[in-house]
Amino acid sequence: MDKVCAVFGGSRGIGRAVARLMAQRGYQLAIVARNLQGARAAAGDLGGDHLAFSCDVSKEHDVQRTFEEIEKTLGHVNFLVNAAGINRDSLLVRTNTEDMLSQLHTNLLGSMLTCKAAVKTMIKQQRGSIVNVGSVIGLKGNAGQSVYSATKGGLVGFSRALAKEVARKKIRVNVVAPGFVHTDMTKDLKEEHLKKSIPLERFGEPEDVARAVVFLLESPYVTGHVLVVDGGLQLTM
Ligand code: NDP
Repeated sequence: MDKVCAVFGGSRGIGRAVARLMAQRGYQLAIVARNLQGARAAAGDLGGDHLAFSCDVSKEHDVQRTFEEIEKTLGHVNFLVNAAGINRDSLLVRTNTEDMLSQLHTNLLGSMLTCKAAVKTMIKQQRGSIVNVGSVIGLKGNAGQSVYSATKGGLVGFSRALAKEVARKKIRVNVVAPGFVHTDMTKDLKEEHLKKSIPLERFGEPEDVARAVVFLLESPYVTGHVLVVDGGLQLTM
């Protein structure tokens, strides 16, 4: 199979919507999350022979083992989506080191580890496409989200540098930077208040972001790009 796509964070929210769209387009999906039950449910909903894997992206040995398992069962990963992410929003002075590290390790180190594992195989194949899910907050900053912003801003620098590093191997690396999207991550936000600052006057749906992710995965002449999908939010920030 030469259309194997691994979606880290594919059990819920944005990653799950990406997996659904990719499955509709004929890709073989590896749905990855820490909670195997959740990943299995997402893979099962897709129908077909898609598989679920349990992995904590912040643990190098776990990432390595997961890529080995995917290769054994589905084949080489040609398409990688990093949608695994967490937030621990609070003012910096109230943020403990544990919360800083968990965000850095999941959002930034996790994507570095999965990209490293994927790129090793992609280099041998001389092809591959990666999309890392950043955030408009990583570009613009937001009070109460300094550490989260740093992880997402760091992801842009990482992705652009990696895009340069692997372009001659015919591997592309891009970023999608969403605004507010209806998922578990945003369920406690005050939507009525926040959407006043969004020119399109609504939160995004996971499917809105998934379309942009799939566009970048499949666009053969786009690399090192950051595609903002935020209903115009950044225009007001
Ligand atoms: P959800 O909370 O809905 O889903 C998060 C996904 O990541 C789940 O599948 C979760 O599964 C997985 N995950 C979390 N931690 C780990 C880990 N350590 N290892 C492996 N998988 C993990 O989040 P969203 O869909 O909202 O977010 C997806 C991405 O989009 C994140 O990177 C987020 O920062 C980003 N984003 C979201 C926005 C929004 O408004 N929702 C806005 C901008 C960016 P499990 O818990 O089982 O591990």
